[in-house]
Amino acid sequence: MFSLLLFIIGGIFGSFYNVCIYRLPNELDIVSKNSFCIHCKYKIPFYLNIPIISYILNLGKCKNCNEKISLSYFIVELLTAFLFVYSYNLFGLSFEFFGYIIFYSSLIIIFFTDLKYYLILDKITIPISLIGLFFVIIDLNPFNTNFYDSILGGIIGYLTIYIIRYIFFKIRKVEGMGLGDAKLFLMIGIWLGIKSIYLILASSALAGAIVGSIFIYIYKKDKNFQIPYGCFIVLASALYPKLGSLFYNLL
Ligand SMILES: [Zn+2]
Repeated sequence: MFSLLLFIIGGIFGSFYNVCIYRLPNELDIVSKNSFCIHCKYKIPFYLNIPIISYILNLGKCKNCNEKISLSYFIVELLTAFLFVYSYNLFGLSFEFFGYIIFYSSLIIIFFTDLKYYLILDKITIPISLIGLFFVIIDLNPFNTNFYDSILGGIIGYLTIYIIRYIFFKIRKVEGMGLGDAKLFLMIGIWLGIKSIYLILASSALAGAIVGSIFIYIYKKDKNFQIPYGCFIVLASALYPKLGSLFYNLL
């Protein structure tokens, strides 16, 4: 019963994350005004704005203009709903439960702002880094990251991307990576610790290169086509708490 309640609350939060994903990059207010259809600006009344369910009932279309609504809205709501239930199964109602939700929620938002707008927003990475620091200081980090691991992870994560970016700029004279990536690694380092940085960096770069090549050679995108690299960092970070220790045990 309680899991069902958490699933519903998660869906509501997911619906709010969708608002953030669409409005933060567009510099729109996230609290005021109703949700509206991005095609026809139709204000969606609350009874048509039920997380997860509305999308299924309306078959992914706007009730007013019949335009397709991006599947990402549905995915974000569903993922967040499962995140709440999963986190509760891991930690019960505890500080770690909230920490886990905060970290993974930020990953969900970052994944979709990078996918849709090629943006990793400071408005997300900086506050979540600070909250991560707080969880480490009170020693209730859901990933068992200790204080020094965390501080070192944050600093090394940020500097590594900063240096790669600097070298890339010197060689190619174009910006390869934004500082958004550096701040994302600051955040990841703080939450997951120093050991996570290089594994996440290597696996996301590899996955990004493979998927990038597929798009260039199979889908014939031109070479300037930009990969939302942040999405790969997010995926690698999301998997790290489960798979990272497995990898290090193999070494
Ligand atoms: Zn519409």
